[in-house]
Amino acid sequence: MRKRIAIINRDKCHPHECGNYLCAKLCPVNRTGVDCITPDKITTKAKIDEFLCTGCGICPKRCPFGAIEILNLPDTLNKFPLHRYGDNMFELYSLPAPLFGQVTGIVGRNGLGKSTAFKILSNHFKPNLGNWQNPPDFKEILAYFKGTETQKFLQKLNLNQIQVSYKPQQIDAIPKQFSGTARELLTKIDKQNQLTKIADQLQLTNFLDNEIKTISGGELQRIALAATALKEANLFLFDEPSSYLDIKQRVNMSKFIRNLTQPEIATIVVEHDLIILDYITDLVNIMYGHEGAFGIVSGVKNSREGINAYLEGYLKEENVRFRDHHIKFDKSNDPKKTMKFPLLTWKNLSKQLGNFHLSTSEGTLHKNEIVGILGENGIGKTSFIKLLAGLIKPDFGELDIQVKVAYKPQYLESNSDLLVSEFLQRTIERYEAQLIKPLDLEKLFTQKLSELSGGQLQRVSIAYCLSQDAQLFLLDEPSAYLDVEQRLLISKIIKNIAFERDLTIMVVDHDLMFLDYISDKLIVFTGAPAQNGLLRGPFKMEEGMNLFLQELDITLRRDITSHRPRINKPASVKDREQRAENKWYYS
Ligand code: SF4
Ligand code: SF4
Repeated sequence: MRKRIAIINRDKCHPHECGNYLCAKLCPVNRTGVDCITPDKITTKAKIDEFLCTGCGICPKRCPFGAIEILNLPDTLNKFPLHRYGDNMFELYSLPAPLFGQVTGIVGRNGLGKSTAFKILSNHFKPNLGNWQNPPDFKEILAYFKGTETQKFLQKLNLNQIQVSYKPQQIDAIPKQFSGTARELLTKIDKQNQLTKIADQLQLTNFLDNEIKTISGGELQRIALAATALKEANLFLFDEPSSYLDIKQRVNMSKFIRNLTQPEIATIVVEHDLIILDYITDLVNIMYGHEGAFGIVSGVKNSREGINAYLEGYLKEENVRFRDHHIKFDKSNDPKKTMKFPLLTWKNLSKQLGNFHLSTSEGTLHKNEIVGILGENGIGKTSFIKLLAGLIKPDFGELDIQVKVAYKPQYLESNSDLLVSEFLQRTIERYEAQLIKPLDLEKLFTQKLSELSGGQLQRVSIAYCLSQDAQLFLLDEPSAYLDVEQRLLISKIIKNIAFERDLTIMVVDHDLMFLDYISDKLIVFTGAPAQNGLLRGPFKMEEGMNLFLQELDITLRRDITSHRPRINKPASVKDREQRAENKWYYS
């Protein structure tokens, strides 16, 4: 059995620019006359024999393009992979098992093979058991899963007894593939006359007759959810259903997915918003491994215990530690937080933007303070941020800004050919330890901004914004496109930066756990989306959360083990108790 795997990034491997297979020249195994690293006959890129490699670590360090990774596999992983794409490429070790009558969640970082798992579950391709040159027959695949729920599932899949409906992660592709109105798109799929009911449940009616190309990200996500639910299926796969949705829509989406699941239907959800994942699912699988190299799916656990195990980084049943630290949600008592110096104030601001009107009461921001901003989409959050950033001027009211403002917008786009290292030059010079290293940005230095994925561009934009010479920082949806672990990491970085540099940071976000953890105070927007918005606060956390949760009609409690916030099941004992005490939020 192999002890380690070697991953070669073929795009980064340039054998004739590194000194003609530098890695092979330096490899101690090759130097004894044994072919550990050789040129691949077809691609001409370097190829590493994982059985011969001793894991000395020389080639990953010396490859000038960072094309090699050598990774030890966990000792407990005593089996062949379920699927591998090719020599020195990503491998997946197990699958989540769809369970009928249940909503099963998958929690874990990106790049661990959830798309591969979904493709196998939806019969897109059959797993090759690590033998891509000579793929196994179906009997061998079944033997791999002998005695498990997955074996039964694959048998049904093979007999065409499973119909799969899949909502992909990337919904931006929909307007490129379809022209016409949302109604026309959904009517084509609606074989059982369910569109009116589903449009009502997902609140699509207002934009159902709009052209797909003109609708917003949040609307497109709900169209994709409707399209998935309208298909006749007994396995529903939802990949990141909360992206682009505000908190109200996320709660509504959760109820919608739960209602879809019947005794003869199985549902699997991948989600990085942990409050929402916890609320939607009955059970979870944890995905762990190494990004882009290998992925392992844990056994199924009940949602509460599974999410707590994920935060702890330790799987008791499997006896596997997959992270060297425990993620905790305790808020530290920072003594400097009591020394409040005002930074800026506003009073009775008013701004008309087309048909939308924004107004505020009176408010003050202080130094060394992180203020979370909560509210529905289209209710004026971004407009308020633009007022503070000086991008638009108020029609009436007083706005006293004597400070420099740095702003990270919600929508990130870059057609620039600038390299990440050029764009982040100032950040590299001044904040290498605080931003570059923790955000793992070195790996991106040689890429152009236009080549970055959504999550990579988000990390680069946050680092760029936080390295500006300013006193007030406005971060609009910093958790978007980030996986669960990156969200938790970013929240720690933002807190540390605010503390070390005595900064004021305002954060608009729809991930309630992220905002709960990061914020010292809250601003709450109320009103009617696209018509009017009223800014209230800043409030102390409990007061702001109580106001917001009451509007949402949900109560939050704290998990006794991890202290993470959890949404109470409607009409549960806790829910009724908290409503009776008017305590919508437990701090
Ligand atoms: Fe050269 Fe790196 Fe490719 Fe090896 S992996 S051939 S050192 S570019
Ligand atoms: Fe050779 Fe493995 Fe060492 Fe790389 S890590 S130089 S492949 S022995």
